[in-house]
Amino acid sequence: MVRVVVVGGGVNGVGSALAILHRLPECDLTIITQDLTPNTTGDGAAGFWGPYLSFGTPPAKIIQWSQETWKLFSKWYKSDQPMGVSLVYGESICRDPLPLEPWRHLPLAYRQLNYHEYTKHGPEYRSGYSFGSFTAEASKFLPVLLEEVKALGGQVEVGRRLNSLKEAAVNADLVVNCSGLGARHLVPDPDVYPCRGQVMRVRAPWITNYLCDESEESFAYILPNTDTVVLGGTHQDNDWRLEVDPHDSEAIWRNCTAHIPSLKSAEVVKEWVGLRPCRKNGVRLEADELLCNSRTVPVVHNYGHGGSGISLFWGCSQEVATITQQLIHKHYGPPSKL
Ligand SMILES: Cc1cc2nc3c(=O)[nH]c(=O)nc-3n(C[C@H](O)[C@H](O)[C@H](O)COP(=O)(O)OP(=O)(O)OC[C@H]3O[C@@H](n4cnc5c(N)ncnc54)[C@H](O)[C@@H]3O)c2cc1C
Repeated sequence: MVRVVVVGGGVNGVGSALAILHRLPECDLTIITQDLTPNTTGDGAAGFWGPYLSFGTPPAKIIQWSQETWKLFSKWYKSDQPMGVSLVYGESICRDPLPLEPWRHLPLAYRQLNYHEYTKHGPEYRSGYSFGSFTAEASKFLPVLLEEVKALGGQVEVGRRLNSLKEAAVNADLVVNCSGLGARHLVPDPDVYPCRGQVMRVRAPWITNYLCDESEESFAYILPNTDTVVLGGTHQDNDWRLEVDPHDSEAIWRNCTAHIPSLKSAEVVKEWVGLRPCRKNGVRLEADELLCNSRTVPVVHNYGHGGSGISLFWGCSQEVATITQQLIHKHYGPPSKL
């Protein structure tokens, strides 16, 4: 039986493990990870479908991966199992011109706002667009996916911090690397860096539409989830601080309540900081290999998703499964011989 080790238990690790088990039910798969839900990067994110902060990733790949993920969220939204998916409509506005997104044909009713629509937020606004999208909360869907991995025979080793990918390869025939920011040290890949994001969760059930202000001077987003509304945020490159910064809290509150003053009466439920796993050249999803005790072990990298990991994870997971299938066939023969 071919032994597959997936490093990382975030949306990309668990998603990749599941996609591999669907395609290769006969493999012996183990997830090795330091953290699992509810302590991964995706767990605190609003999970808004809308590829963001993934510079350098080819637009065709963003479209392919985000489309697959859109289909999954759409399926979950229509299913009878609560997966933490909400359908939200809203607007993104900016004091500078906003580019037309390459993925604009995917969400619902994407269109550019006209002058009257974006200036209703203030005369200083110069552009905007609106579309319908999903928010998918990883803290709600990751536990379900993890149970599915276990039900398909996958094993999970949590609380284990690896010092190199070779450690994962010692007992593996193939390694899938979904270590997010950890890839900086594990690969090692110096192009991987954090983009710090601080958010606030408030109880404001009257907010059902989203609003994103992408202007540098008044950056803010208001994203409804199932039980809370996420107010953001920050995007601070190369900032490793995981503590809540009161100055950031103040700016988030000021910018969000300037747009929607009724938020001032919302109860603050939680504040949270996460580090987006960014990479200078965008997502790295490709085959590689490493030498371990004079064995060549095939590797599939899947990291560097920046601020889009939830929007892309299911499409990336499918591609990981395809590459894994091909590598196993190449190195160990057809599945019938496994
Ligand atoms: C504030 C904020 C808001 C966001 N909002 C959105 C949004 O609205 N929409 C969206 O699409 N995306 C959003 N994102 C981005 C998204 O959350 C990430 O891109 C995504 O969660 C990355 O998932 P991942 O599985 O690649 O990495 P991670 O979730 O970081 O998982 C990496 C895993 O690898 C493990 N690991 C790392 N190093 C080691 C090691 N040495 N040994 C063992 N295990 C290791 C970790 O324990 C972890 O389990 C947001 C992020 C932040 C911070």
